[in-house]
This record gives sequence, C-alpha cells and structure tokens, in this order.
Amino acid sequence: MFIDHDYIEKILDESRLVSKEDVQVVINKAKNKEGLNHKDVAILLQLEDKDQLDSIYKIAGEIKESIYGKRIVMFAPLYVSNHCINNCLYCGYRRDNKFERRKLTQEEIKNEVKILESMGHKRLALEVGEDPVNVPIDYILECIDTIYKTQNDNGEIRRINVNIAATTVENYRKLKNANIGTYILFQETYHKPTYEKMHPKSIKGDYNYHLTSFDRAMEAGIDDVGAGVLFGLADPKFEVLALMLHNEHLEEKFNVGFHTISVPRLKKAEGMNLEDFPNVLDDETFKKIVAIIRIAVPFTGIILSTRENQEMRRELLRYGVSQISAGSVTGVGGYKEKEDRKSVNQFETCDDRSPLEVLKGLVNDGYIPSYCTACYRKGRTGERFMSLAKTGQIQNVCEPNALMSLVEYALDYGDDEIRNKVDKLIDNIKDDFEKKHVREMIEKRIERLRNGERDLYV
Ligand code: SAM
Ligand code: SF4
Repeated sequence: MFIDHDYIEKILDESRLVSKEDVQVVINKAKNKEGLNHKDVAILLQLEDKDQLDSIYKIAGEIKESIYGKRIVMFAPLYVSNHCINNCLYCGYRRDNKFERRKLTQEEIKNEVKILESMGHKRLALEVGEDPVNVPIDYILECIDTIYKTQNDNGEIRRINVNIAATTVENYRKLKNANIGTYILFQETYHKPTYEKMHPKSIKGDYNYHLTSFDRAMEAGIDDVGAGVLFGLADPKFEVLALMLHNEHLEEKFNVGFHTISVPRLKKAEGMNLEDFPNVLDDETFKKIVAIIRIAVPFTGIILSTRENQEMRRELLRYGVSQISAGSVTGVGGYKEKEDRKSVNQFETCDDRSPLEVLKGLVNDGYIPSYCTACYRKGRTGERFMSLAKTGQIQNVCEPNALMSLVEYALDYGDDEIRNKVDKLIDNIKDDFEKKHVREMIEKRIERLRNGERDLYV
C-alpha cells in the first residue's frame, strides 16, 4: 500500500535530525519552482527558524504569482442531501445527530441553482452525505443533469465538481459520463488508527477502500481528482507527508497527480466539541502547511473554503491558495432558506460576505476573480492540463479567459462600483500581455461581451 505508516514515521524521525544547513538546501531547491519530493517536504515541515520561514512564504508567493498570475477561481458548494448513514465524529450530518433529514427534489435544485446563478456562480461543488438507499448514484446523476440544464437569464453552471463518498469503478464511470469536473474526496485523515476511531461502525470506516477511491476513479476515466485532509484530526506533519505520498502514487500509476488539494480545518459542528480534538491546527502551522503544499506541488490548485475567515483567506491567497468559495451555505436547501429559516448546517462557516463583496475585496487587492471553466470544456484536463501548465503555455489562455469571465460577471451581476473597478483593472494589466495579438483578441472579445455575447473563451 502506498501509505506505509512505519515509513512515514521513519521519514519524519529522520527529518527531525536535520541541520539548518540541510533545510537551506531544500529551500534552495524550492526556488526552482519544480516541486519537491516527500522527503524534502518532511524537512520543510520541521522548519521553525523565523528567517527560513519567511523565505518559504516568499518562495510560495513567487510560485503562486508565476504560475497562477493574479487569477483566483471562484466557486460555491451546493448541498442537495443531508441523509447520511455514516457516523463521522466531527460532522454535523452524522447519523447520531437526530434531525429531520432532507433531500432536494429536482424542482428545489433548480431553485437553488437559479439563486447561485444570480450570484454569478458558474462552477459548483456538489455535496451530499452517504446513503446508498435514499441517495443512490442515479439521484446524483439526475441532480447533475438538472444543474447543467438550469439556466437563469445569462446564468448557467458550466462545471460541477462532485464531492460524494468513495464508490465503485462502475459508479465513477457514470459520473465521468455525466460530465463532472473534478471528483473530490477528502481522505479526512491518512492516519489509520485515527481514521478508524473517527469513522466508527460505518461504510466510510473502511480505510483502504476510502484511500483507493482515486485509483478507481482514474481507472474509470476521471482525469481530475481533488484530494484533501481534514486538518485537526491527526498530526498535521503526518497528514501532509501522506498527502504527498498519495500524490506521488497517482503520478506514478496514472501520470497525473491531484488536480486540486483542499485544506479544510476542523470547525465547530452540531453534536461535537472542538475541545475533544487534540490536534486542532493553530493559525501559524496552518499557514506554513499551505505554503509548503504550494511549493511541493506548484501546478496543483489549492482550494480554501469559507471555513476560514476573511483575514485568513486574504493571507493564504498570497501564499498559494488559487480557488475560493464565496457566499456559501452548508445546509441542504440553504440558499433558498437563508432568507426563510435556518437549515441544519454541516459545520459553521466564517466568511459570510456575499460573492459580490468577496469579489470587490479581491479586485481591490489586485486579483482577477475568475469564473472560467474553459479548460475542462475544451478537454484540457488531467495529464494534458498538467503538461500545458508545466510548460507555461496555459498562461496565454488562462489570464485572458479569466478577464473575460470577470467582465461577463460585472456586466450581468455587478454594480457600477465593480464595473468601474474591472475597467480600471483591465487598463492596468492590459500591457502585461506582451503579445500584440493577445491584447487585440482580449479587446475584441470584451467588446463582444459588452454587446451581449456570452461565454467567450480560448
Ligand atoms: N459525505 C461525503 C464524504 O464524507 O466524503 C461528502 C463530503 S462532506 C459533505 C464534505 C467534507 O466536509 C467532508 O469530507 C469533511 O472533510 C468536511 N467536514 C465534515 N465535518 C466538518 C467540520 N466539523 N469542520 C470542517 N469540515 C468538516
Ligand atoms: Fe456523512 Fe460525509 Fe458527514 Fe461523514 S463527513 S457524516 S460521510 S456527510
């Protein structure tokens, strides 16, 4: 098995003994922006020296800037069912929590999607609990179909990433055929004894089955898989190292590793107390981990949700985060009910700004919020995406595409303030495009958007 606990402990023990000079060798290697192997990562995880810490933040920031430019991908989660037969000790949806379970009808889904579209969203993460009887794969497929078909004026969902429980090759094939974007599954914890303790008497409690889901998903033809650790369950150093080994395993076997890594931190939820979790992660360690992941896997997107507050999100965008959610609710039917009544949430969120407010904050900080979904729709996924990204060719398409998606947002969902800001942003960065034909192409397409055309991308 590619996660060998003794091996991970051994590498961590060895890394505790390295000198400051050894650490510097890894830092110098990190500057090449070519990624790091798990042994290097183990060394960086031990880093405590203030100057060395500052230099890894600086390198992470430079890698972020050179690969992702100023683009930040925007998305929102959509919870369609909170039925769950598992009993994950950290989760508000676990079966021991008694409340009236709910799954949305296709009509209700249409309403949620229309609300999300009216916020400007084009990319969703579909979320459900695990319940093969009440929420079979056919229900998920129906939801995906409904979401893609639901349009609201100019609004449409162009990419659905799916976060559902570990399943079979056959079911992954069905998801692939339903045109999902990324298949997302968090390992929660790679530490087997902790995993088993956190997932008592449940389907999800099968560590090996959960761990090998991406192998099955890729076997079924899904190119883009999104990993994650729920930070707060076990030793974070163990988790990051295991995450790297998992990524290396997929690279070896399928020639492509994680498309994204999510970095959720444990939050207060119904029926659990954070005091019962001794590994809850402090802010400083969390920032260090995000910077190390950015350095280790430069071409893998890092996703940060509204589990984090505005300040933390702002800071982590500098060190490596490339995708954020905005305006999220974590309850079933929650977008509609936000106005009516409070639904049961999976966990508490900490950034409750509207997408427009989040967007203004990003533009003020010089970022280009991006609603682009072109890569996936043009078949630039998996290995193909990675090789384009690694040769830097993706830059010439991503930045213009991000700009066009932002103009589209400002025209359809923005106010005068954001439209002015976007105009200024375009003026400021237009000259960054060295190639004349790229500049001209952007200008022409923006004009076409202003004249009412939509969905223009390269
Ligand atoms: N039920 C599926 C599963 O468990 O894989 C879908 C994912 S669930 C809707 C989304 C994720 O939320 C879980 O994988 C877990 O990591 C995270 N989560 C659960 N409880 C949480 C909490 N208290 N704080 C932060 N994240 C939590
Ligand atoms: Fe169910 Fe997922 Fe929550 Fe576990 S994390 S209780 S599987 S919804």
